[in-house]
Amino acid sequence: MFSSLSDRLTATFRSLRGKGRLSPEDVDTTVREIRRALLEADVALPVVRQFTTAVRERALGEEVSQALNPAQQVVKIVNDELISILGGETRRLRLAKTPPTVIMLAGLQGAGKTTLAGKLARHLRNLNHRPLLVACDLQRPNAVNQLQITGERAGVDVYAPEPGNGVGDPVAVARAGVEHARSQGYDVVVLDTAGRLGIDAEMMQQAADIRTATNPDEILFVLDAMIGQDAVQTAEAFRDGVGFTGVVLTKLDGDARGGAALSVRSVTGQPVMFASTGEKLDDFELFHPDRMASRILD
Ligand code: GDP
Repeated sequence: MFSSLSDRLTATFRSLRGKGRLSPEDVDTTVREIRRALLEADVALPVVRQFTTAVRERALGEEVSQALNPAQQVVKIVNDELISILGGETRRLRLAKTPPTVIMLAGLQGAGKTTLAGKLARHLRNLNHRPLLVACDLQRPNAVNQLQITGERAGVDVYAPEPGNGVGDPVAVARAGVEHARSQGYDVVVLDTAGRLGIDAEMMQQAADIRTATNPDEILFVLDAMIGQDAVQTAEAFRDGVGFTGVVLTKLDGDARGGAALSVRSVTGQPVMFASTGEKLDDFELFHPDRMASRILD
């Protein structure tokens, strides 16, 4: 990911090398190049505007450092602003004061929720928690089975409706799953919910009902970084329809241009917390804005 954005930014910085001082025209050209690079990476327009305004103001301002030449200064400003739009600090999971902590996953079908449920459970287990996965995706025929396989691989238990027990009510399963966790001493519950291929009122309502029934401590919106410009619209729909407290970006191992990653925090006001970087359980990282910015500017 980000390879084309990285190349464009690096080329922009290269053209500033050797300059003793930046004229207002240099700043204009640089900001224009940065703007173009961000737009090509599918970064949302309001975010591009916010970013370039901040870079321009700082590059023109009297922030002159003796230690850095103008090219280095621009790199530093861009780095700082990237960290800022990526959310600044690393945001960690908020655990309930009284267990179990309830974490609900929401997102479109295929975004990577079920895969993530396993990764998250494994991550929690490594932190000495005792997580329980709950299969509330009763929409997709194979979803319960897939979660059971994922749970087995991750070495964590899965609560699922009995097979043949009717289609089932996902809200009731979610509620029963949390109850089961409470009575059996699991301290974190991860609810895997259903998604649709597109945004859909019924799906949103179901997710909102699960939210109301279980009062989650965290609702993680799982977003496929590969969906490019649709990411912002999808994120807004989930923010308005269900609400969420954090974002997980998936498929960062692909060749996404990076727009989703760079836009979602500013657009929704919620931070990216985790990144999924492959199909295997270990392909999972905490999302660190500063490391992501360095990766872009590497
Ligand atoms: P769900 O419908 O949201 O539960 O999505 P799934 O977890 O079933 O994932 C959909 C597809 O994407 C599956 O084929 C996964 O193996 C794949 N997948 C999930 N996360 C990642 C990731 O981070 N990288 C890659 N390359 N594939 C992923």
